[in-house]
Amino acid sequence: MTAEEQKTGITYECIRCGTKVTSEELNSLPEIKCICGYKVFKKARSPLVKQIKAV
Ligand SMILES: [Zn+2]
Repeated sequence: MTAEEQKTGITYECIRCGTKVTSEELNSLPEIKCICGYKVFKKARSPLVKQIKAV
């Protein structure tokens, strides 16, 4: 696994509404918070992201 995959391959899922957010999106936010206002996420590694490769 490359460093880039580790960086972009992690998806977090809000345990309240199920909205998925990437670690990149979370990092760009001033605080870790879902659009619904909840702050508890669980890690959800998306198989979809894993299939995307830089060409
Ligand atoms: Zn939410």
